[in-house]
Amino acid sequence: MAEAIASAAISTPAAGSLSAPLPVRAVLPWALFVGLLMLVALYFVGAEQGATAVFAGEGVHEWVHDGRHLLGFPCH
Ligand SMILES: [Zn+2]
Repeated sequence: MAEAIASAAISTPAAGSLSAPLPVRAVLPWALFVGLLMLVALYFVGAEQGATAVFAGEGVHEWVHDGRHLLGFPCH
């Protein structure tokens, strides 16, 4: 009796279990979106300056200046 209960508990997942596999089709759009946001952030940290600047002035550059040095981009 106890063996039957134990084996049933092991073989059947609990309802509402959080260990269900995540389908790739559900994750892929969010992964692409986050990847795009990371590329935009990397651009503003690493290349938003001078001729390639999207915004005029030094505001964006000064705002991400510490991150630029942290990531090793050339600055000054
Ligand atoms: Zn600098």
